[in-house]
Amino acid sequence: MKGPIMRALSGVAAMTLAMGAAPLVAQGPTDADLMNDAKSTGDVLTYGMGPQAHRFSTLNAINSGNVSKMVPAFSASLGGEKQRGQEAQPIVYDGIIYVTGSYSRLFAFDARTGEEKWQYDARLPDGIMPCCDVVNRGAAIHGDKIIFATLDARLVALNRLTGKVIWNKQIADYKEGYSATAAPLIVRGMVITGNSGGEFGVVGAVDARDVNTGELIWHRPVIEGHMGTLKGQDNGVTGKLNATWQGDLWKSGGGATWLGGTYDPDTNLLFFGTGNPAPWNSHLRPGDNLYTASTLAIDPETGVIKWHYQTTPHDGWDFDGVNEFIPFDATINGKPMKLGAKADRNGYFFVLDRTNGKFISANKFVMQTTWANGFNKAGKPNVIPEGRPPAPGEGKGKSVFASPSFLGGKNWMPMAYSQDTGLFYIPSNDWGMDIWNEPIAYKKGAAYLGAGFTIKSIAEDHIGALRAMDPKTGKIVWEYKNKAPLWGGVLSTGGNLVFTGTPEGYLKAFDAKTGQELWKFQTGSGVVGSPVTWEQDGEQYVAVMSGWGGAVPLWGGEVAKSFKDINQGGALWVFKLPK
Ligand code: CA
Ligand code: CA
Repeated sequence: MKGPIMRALSGVAAMTLAMGAAPLVAQGPTDADLMNDAKSTGDVLTYGMGPQAHRFSTLNAINSGNVSKMVPAFSASLGGEKQRGQEAQPIVYDGIIYVTGSYSRLFAFDARTGEEKWQYDARLPDGIMPCCDVVNRGAAIHGDKIIFATLDARLVALNRLTGKVIWNKQIADYKEGYSATAAPLIVRGMVITGNSGGEFGVVGAVDARDVNTGELIWHRPVIEGHMGTLKGQDNGVTGKLNATWQGDLWKSGGGATWLGGTYDPDTNLLFFGTGNPAPWNSHLRPGDNLYTASTLAIDPETGVIKWHYQTTPHDGWDFDGVNEFIPFDATINGKPMKLGAKADRNGYFFVLDRTNGKFISANKFVMQTTWANGFNKAGKPNVIPEGRPPAPGEGKGKSVFASPSFLGGKNWMPMAYSQDTGLFYIPSNDWGMDIWNEPIAYKKGAAYLGAGFTIKSIAEDHIGALRAMDPKTGKIVWEYKNKAPLWGGVLSTGGNLVFTGTPEGYLKAFDAKTGQELWKFQTGSGVVGSPVTWEQDGEQYVAVMSGWGGAVPLWGGEVAKSFKDINQGGALWVFKLPK
């Protein structure tokens, strides 16, 4: 393990010092440190614990044999009156834990004591339009900067030691319905972001900016017909105009890239998922509506789309395809392959060849999928026509029952991949909805759904289910059922452990091989954040955010009774074994 001094003076900064040249420009993690994050156990530098977002740590000091003894080291409150969903993943570097909070706040806490070092509150305008709570999912660190996106669709870089603003750039216009909640991804000195606003007829895009200045390098809209740019010049239209969209509908076509992306150094590709086509009412937009509800592979140098795979062609259920695409290697039919996996909102777990987007397999990871019955060998869904809500007449159309609900077999909460067990651990939900279509016309800055819905339970004993999926067989190896919907991320470790939180307030640890629950701790509010682990002063730590909120309490419908008594909060919890 590298010591704190070597870490602080790594890369360019160390060279500059040694040469006695100009003052330090970048003190802190370098591009190489970020790429190495999954291997460096003394820090957590990236959202996903590595650019491939495996959310796996080799640390095993805390393990399935002793996790039952784990206790809190400290807790730190985010304070204030702004206690909404706390969906962030902590970043840990050089003795500081950085967390983002609801209402676009960023906090720096001492990683040994929990004492606050500084706090930054973005000044948000009154007119912001977040669809699904005022959450934020985490920050990105690079050099002297800590960077996060804000609800008014801006990107802010702060000095990581002082919290002072270094640069602040607009991603898109919040008055048109754009917002931003995902953690930025930093690759080769570029901050790569998506955008939110798919319920307002925005146009999904992926942007790359210079990490030092915030200046735009490339812009890639993800809806066919829109022009991309590279260094201020036109750089080609996305797809082919009107190939899968009729008329002018592509101009407000949705496809928000609201969950950010992953990066694979092996293939030098960025992977971004795209959200629902707009409006929800699918009868108003015949065609596949590319590239909505898809996974895209993007060249980080130019922003050009290298391949795409659409998980829900002509979506009519708000099955955003934004879920993280996680690169992994495995041997399929005797052939070693570079693969990627995604557990989609539509209830299917997809495995693709990540070098070219070729379909390998899709398997159901939820109880029920009423919109399709599996996928054929070409990677197309066997669609069930009666599962699509019909076209409305003058008013409200006929309602159909659909499962998963629009909140998904899996929503934003990231799964983990264990390099030890070879399993993916999927935070999933079993629920359905009554859904119907309605007439709608696009109006800038207004909700653009043309549909209505009521979410319903489909099981007596649970909605949430943490499931261990074998990507080679498509089989569920074990599952843990939870009464309330699961809404937090997952962590897996070399200690044969899987961690995730519950709305009921617990952070829980499970045996990675069997799913046996080994430990739980009540944090005082619902856990909808993503846990992390690292090593510090010779001990292993685990941290997670607590604070109930997110889309579920806003949109829960009939299932709300499973979580009506959960109180709000806002706290960082840090755990370790007793000495
Ligand atoms: Ca690391
Ligand atoms: Ca959506």
